[in-house]
Amino acid sequence: MTVIELVKVSKSYPTDKTPAAFDISLKVEKGEILALLGPSGSGKTTLLRLIAGFEAPDEGSILLNGNIVSEQGVALPPEKRGVGMVFQDYALFPHLRVSENVAFGLKKMPSRERNEKAGNILALVGLSDYKNRYPHELSGGQQQRVALARALAPGPAVILLDEPFSSLDPDMCVRMREDVTDILRKTGSTAILVTHDHEEAFSMADRVALLNHGRLEQHDTPEGVYHTPLTPFVADFVGKADFIPGVVQGGKLITEIGCLENKTLFHEDAEVMLMIRPDDIDLRPNPEGHARILDRQFRGSENHYRVQLPSGQIIHSSQHSVAYYPNELHVDLQLQITHIVAFDKSIMDQYYNEIRE
Ligand code: ADP
Repeated sequence: MTVIELVKVSKSYPTDKTPAAFDISLKVEKGEILALLGPSGSGKTTLLRLIAGFEAPDEGSILLNGNIVSEQGVALPPEKRGVGMVFQDYALFPHLRVSENVAFGLKKMPSRERNEKAGNILALVGLSDYKNRYPHELSGGQQQRVALARALAPGPAVILLDEPFSSLDPDMCVRMREDVTDILRKTGSTAILVTHDHEEAFSMADRVALLNHGRLEQHDTPEGVYHTPLTPFVADFVGKADFIPGVVQGGKLITEIGCLENKTLFHEDAEVMLMIRPDDIDLRPNPEGHARILDRQFRGSENHYRVQLPSGQIIHSSQHSVAYYPNELHVDLQLQITHIVAFDKSIMDQYYNEIRE
């Protein structure tokens, strides 16, 4: 069942030359976690605010549970949409105790029922013992769980989370991603998460919507956007990507690092750029090898090598945690490409021009 649907939604601010959101259509199904992912200024928060009802679209419609909540002439106010918000700074009421913060959205319930409901939600987020504390007496992670409990308490159709982990330190952030995902799954919540961090999006979301300059470049599973990116921007944004020139000849894709099947259906003699990820390339020491190790970065669970090809191009290879090779070592490259992704050279040139601007 579709909980949220955006149909050709656009929004411009008078101060900006390009729209903050342009012609965006997507659906979020019941129980799904969607990550809105993109760099700063790509339109993620604008889209979240449009769904919440804090902004109105210039064009297009937004539907919640099949009902139009935003369209020309229709603007259901935020409090009537049944959306729960978790803000970057948690926005807890400092003068209210934890239990009162959580019960805040339940004012219409009789007080016994309200207290019981708030108590149940606090137990769910593991904060029963903290119900009488004030927000300033809690850690960042605990404050965040209170904010989530407060948003969940009225049983909203959808929970919107705006960069919810940005003020936590990295260790806490990883734990909270797990905790929040767990709570959202347990409650069967439908949620939209705004983040600029692809690892966060991958670890939490069922689907990812990649935004760039207000446009939706890909809406797919985390595996889909990583392994089969539709555009150079997506390829580059969701992980390390190197692009190697190639040409299609005799139905094959010929590149400096090897010859691959032309599964991408380019025409004969097409000039293309093959995308490779560090995990697509294995290294085999060989004094006769044409590639040369430049340096290594140890990352704990893996070693990350920079390798120079005979053409001078530098590519990256991730190797096992204990695979130590010295700088200057000559190696053969072994391709372990599971998904062949290549872009027309002109599209790649256009992308390079955009990022240089
Ligand atoms: P993100 O959340 O991805 O960082 P935003 O949605 O905040 O992106 O911003 C998208 C674009 O819209 C940016 O160019 C930003 O400057 C502009 N913008 C966002 N909010 C406003 C606003 N209230 N007034 C004018 N411009 C805005």
